[in-house]
Amino acid sequence: MEDKKPLMLEITDTSQRPSLTEELPLLRLEGVGKVYGNLEVLRDVTLRVNRNEIVTIVGPSGAGKTTLLQIAGTLARPDTGKIIYGNDDISGMSDRKLSEFRNRNIGFIFQFHQLLPEFTARENVALPAMIGGMSRKAALHKADGLLESVGLSARKNHRPSEMSGGECQRTAVARALINDPEVVFADEPTGSLDSARRDEIKEIIAGLRRDLGQTFVIVTHDLSMNKIADRVIRMEDGRILN
Ligand code: ADP
Repeated sequence: MEDKKPLMLEITDTSQRPSLTEELPLLRLEGVGKVYGNLEVLRDVTLRVNRNEIVTIVGPSGAGKTTLLQIAGTLARPDTGKIIYGNDDISGMSDRKLSEFRNRNIGFIFQFHQLLPEFTARENVALPAMIGGMSRKAALHKADGLLESVGLSARKNHRPSEMSGGECQRTAVARALINDPEVVFADEPTGSLDSARRDEIKEIIAGLRRDLGQTFVIVTHDLSMNKIADRVIRMEDGRILN
């Protein structure tokens, strides 16, 4: 495994780069609001995520969970409030800088694997590393290691159509990890799986936190996911209840 990369900061003079200490939360959302039309989807949301934590976000459909995850994951921008990684408010970053930041620091797992159908498992896993500038050879080598860690070495040259749903989702977990992200955001990662496959994904997530200290923020309706969580955040009507 490569060394963990420092958070990419939009500061040209690196001597002014703030040091990230272990005490700082990995991520803070402060006073985040989001409105779609007349609908206040997020209202004054404040949240901290610490390193090595598994945080789950639960609540009824329409509560704003996915919107919160997308804003925290820099896929959407808030209307109000701040998103702070380490010491740095990333809310003002340009789209291009934000894409780079996301590629280096953030992994995603969605309900449906969203693998590219024309590529093999190892190519799918390697792609975000190649986008980040790694050579094809090095990226594929790293992808092979990750596929081994999720028990898929024997499937690495298969395309998504040649794999089961559970295998595709395990490939998606490996893809989320390829750039050694600071944090992985998962939106209903077990939502499309049967209970045996759900357990596999949960065991993999718990193992990654235990063995690598990987941080996860997981939106889920799967109550058993809370068993592997350090904290369960409850949302309703765009607000965090606890
Ligand atoms: P949850 O994940 O808790 O089910 P969401 O964050 O998906 O909630 O959605 C919260 C509310 O925001 C819902 O009422 C949804 O219809 C609305 N919403 C989400 N995204 C958009 C969008 N892009 N445009 C308009 N309304 C949206």
